[in-house]
Amino acid sequence: MKLLLVVPAKEERKERRLKGKAFQIPQLSLGILASLTPEDVEVDYVDENLEDINYEWGADLVAITVMTATAPRAYEIAQNFKKFGAKVVLGGIHPSILPYEALKYADSVVVGEAEYVWQQVIEDFKRKELKPIYYGKRVDSKDIISPKREIFKNKGYYFTSILQATRGCPYDCDFCSVSLFFGRSFRNRQIKDIIKEIEELNHPLIGFLDDNLIGNKKFAKKLFYELIPLKIRWLAQASLTIADDLELLRLAKRSGCAGLFIGIESISEGGLKEINKRYQKAKTLLEKIKRIQEEGILIEGSFIFGLDSDTPDVFDETLEFVFKSKMALASFGILTPYPGTKLQKRLIEENRIITYDWRLYDCGHAVFKPKNMTIEKLQEGLDYCWYQFYSYKNIFKRVFSLGYRFPLLGIPVLILNLSYKRMLFKTTDISSWFSQKNYGFIPETI
Ligand code: SF4
Repeated sequence: MKLLLVVPAKEERKERRLKGKAFQIPQLSLGILASLTPEDVEVDYVDENLEDINYEWGADLVAITVMTATAPRAYEIAQNFKKFGAKVVLGGIHPSILPYEALKYADSVVVGEAEYVWQQVIEDFKRKELKPIYYGKRVDSKDIISPKREIFKNKGYYFTSILQATRGCPYDCDFCSVSLFFGRSFRNRQIKDIIKEIEELNHPLIGFLDDNLIGNKKFAKKLFYELIPLKIRWLAQASLTIADDLELLRLAKRSGCAGLFIGIESISEGGLKEINKRYQKAKTLLEKIKRIQEEGILIEGSFIFGLDSDTPDVFDETLEFVFKSKMALASFGILTPYPGTKLQKRLIEENRIITYDWRLYDCGHAVFKPKNMTIEKLQEGLDYCWYQFYSYKNIFKRVFSLGYRFPLLGIPVLILNLSYKRMLFKTTDISSWFSQKNYGFIPETI
C-alpha cells in the first residue's frame, strides 16, 4: 500500500513557489500521520509550495491537510487523485469545521486531531471500508508523539528544526480558530519528550510552532529551565503576557529565546475589546514590548485591520506605533471571518460577508464589509502599511537602531527584513487578487 501526504499550495503560490521558499516549513501534522502509519505502508510527502505533485506515483491513499485558504486547491487535488484511482482523506482545521463541504470532494474526512483515529483509517482503507467521517478525540498530552522527520528530507526546506511543545491556547479571541480546533484546554507535552526531540534535531536554532508557548506559565518556566543546558537559540509565538512575568521573561532569555512572534492585533482599547483580546491593554502595549526587547529578544508584532472600531486613520496610527516600538519585524493582515468563528457568525448575522471564495480567506483580502471605511480603503491601507514598514529607508533605520543597541542582532535582523520584503512583494500581489472572480463556494450552515 502506498500513502501520499500532501500540503496544497495556495493557487498563486504554486505558480511562484521558489520565491518564498525560505519561509516554507514542513507540516508537522503530516509527519505525525507518518509516525502513526504502520511500517508495511510506503509513505511519501509532497509540499506543493516546493514541488509539483506527481499524480502517477501510484498512491493508493492520499491524505491532504487543509486550511481555509488552501481548501479550493485541496479539493482540486483530491479530485485529480480520484481520477487516478486513489482514495482521498482530508483533514486539518477547515474540513474539521466544514466536514460536509470537504466530503463533496473526498472519500473521507478526519474531524479534529488525527492521533486516535489514523490507524483506524488505514485499517478501514485496507478492508475497503473507509468511513465518510472520523471524529478524532482530543489527544491526551502524554500521547502527543514526534513527527517522522525522514519524510521531510530532500524536499527543499531550508529550516526543518521545528517542533510543538503544546497544543491550544487558553484565550478565545473571536476571530481565531485555534480554540475551535484544539479546544480551550491548553495541553503541554511531557518536558522529557520535548528535550529528547530537540536533542534529536541537533540544530543550534529551534522553532516552536505552538500557538502560544507560554499559555501555561508554570509549564513554560519548567520547560525554559530545562532548555538552558542545551545551549540552543529558539523562536516561538507567545502572547504579550510574557512581559508581565519577569521571571518567565528572563528564563526565556536564559534558555535561548532569540525572537517572539506576538499577535498584538490592535493598538486601540476598543479594538482589543471587540476581538475579545481583553487580557491585553492598549495603554501598556509599548511598555511591554520595550520590556521584552530590553532582554535582547526580538519581536515580530502582528496587526489586523478592519475592526468595527477602525477608521481610515488606523493605518498611520499603527505605523506610528510600530516605528515607535522599534520592533524588528511586523506583519499586517485584514480581519478574516474564518468558518465557525464567533466573528463569522456575527458578520453573517449582520449580512456583511461579501464572498465565500475561500482562497481569499488569507488575511490579505477584505471578505466582508468594514464598518468605518470602504473595502477599497481597507485593502489600500493594508498594502500601504506593508510597503511603508518594509521600505528600504525604514528597514535600514530599524536595523541601525537595533544594531546600535544589540550589535550581534543587526545583521540577522537585516537579513530577515530583506528576505521578508523579497517574499512579500514577489509572492503576493494583494490588490490584484481582490479583483479575481468569486468561485462561489457555498458555506454550510454553522
Ligand atoms: S491569543 Fe492567539 S492563539 Fe490564542 S485565541 Fe487569541 S489569537 Fe488565537
